[in-house]
Amino acid sequence: MPQQPLAQVPKDAQWHWQEHGSCREADPLLFFHPQNERGSSRQRRDRSAKVICAACGVRMECADYAVRAREPYGVWGGLSEEDREHIYSRLDTRHYPRQKGEGLRAASAEIAEAVSPRALGIA
Ligand code: SF4
Repeated sequence: MPQQPLAQVPKDAQWHWQEHGSCREADPLLFFHPQNERGSSRQRRDRSAKVICAACGVRMECADYAVRAREPYGVWGGLSEEDREHIYSRLDTRHYPRQKGEGLRAASAEIAEAVSPRALGIA
């Protein structure tokens, strides 16, 4: 049986920003896909989560953490699982961003694009 991928929590990870996340007031099911969810259902749910992330005051902290931890599941900082897979696939695993702020620097274009009007379907 294949191992479930696990987040690799950075040693310097801090969690206080989570107390200020807009998702605290939202349905958690928006941020994590149910088993076997595919296609347009998944796109709609991801987009709904991204709309919440787009207005979140701690989005940068969240996105930085998710990239550094290689979070496998859920929408974090406006980045869907597919967005992060794209980021992970292009980053050099030998010099993977692990220090605070390095996730933002390594994936700034994807983080910005993730909640762009085009990505949210309002362009
Ligand atoms: S950016 Fe999104 S997932 Fe992260 S804390 Fe804010 S609302 Fe929650």
